[in-house]
Amino acid sequence: MTIVIALLSLGGAARAQEVTLAAVGDVLLARYVGVTIRKHGADYPLAKVAPTLKKNDLVLFNLECPLSKRGVPTHFKYLFRANPALAKSLRAGGLNVASVANNHTMDYGRTALLDTISALKKAGITPVGAGPNSAAAIRPVVVRVKGLKVGFLAYTDVDNFGVSPRKDRPTTAHVREATLAKEIRAAKRKSDVLVVSFHWGNEYWRKPSERQKRLAKIALAGGADLILGHHPHVLQPAMKHGGKIVVYSMGGFVWDAVRPDRTRSNIYVFRLGKNRAELKEVIPVRIVRCQPRLVGL
Ligand SMILES: [Zn+2]
Repeated sequence: MTIVIALLSLGGAARAQEVTLAAVGDVLLARYVGVTIRKHGADYPLAKVAPTLKKNDLVLFNLECPLSKRGVPTHFKYLFRANPALAKSLRAGGLNVASVANNHTMDYGRTALLDTISALKKAGITPVGAGPNSAAAIRPVVVRVKGLKVGFLAYTDVDNFGVSPRKDRPTTAHVREATLAKEIRAAKRKSDVLVVSFHWGNEYWRKPSERQKRLAKIALAGGADLILGHHPHVLQPAMKHGGKIVVYSMGGFVWDAVRPDRTRSNIYVFRLGKNRAELKEVIPVRIVRCQPRLVGL
């Protein structure tokens, strides 16, 4: 079964037929970002970029923390959790598609993961890459925008500490190399254009690993039209392979980064059509006190 969600078109008559997707990197609402939210308010993280993000039909991001008041810590290292009410602020800031397949959304266990999914849905954000069992987690989400069926899959290639994957329990979607191509082909059959998000690679590496390249190759061969990566928290290159774009890492976005290479980020804007995702614009961003800001403004 595929979930088809009709989104209201946000564009005016002049660009009625163009479907755009903006994509950004890691969004964290805990740790020092949580401190800045308590100080400056829930809309602070996206305040400077919201007008730019909102120009697009779809805006995808990687949510790197559970949104829940429940659960128990699954480990004791870099443990993240944030208030579910913040989902509304993410939506108000322009974000509407969340990759939740990463190594932190299960920091407070399976109940908190389910809370995250429902908080996002309630706020009008489409979660991708998690569900009440592993079959649901790898199921594509198809969003219909101006008549175009945009399919999304999201996987993590990095395990959450302290959580053993269980097929029959709430989980994030894990990459399984043996079945990846088959899953992608099945998703492509249900979509006009297929976007695959991967949480992969090595933290702070500026170049993709051999494994990232191998997974990208499998996904592209399976029919992915666009691959969007995250987890290294720094930018890695956007490359074209056989006419399709792979952004290996989009860097941090709402993140408590301080070092100069970790505060650089981008908003990637794509024009989507049947079997195609063209890069329209790369908008450079600098993270200042956890808040992404457009460079030069
Ligand atoms: Zn990560």
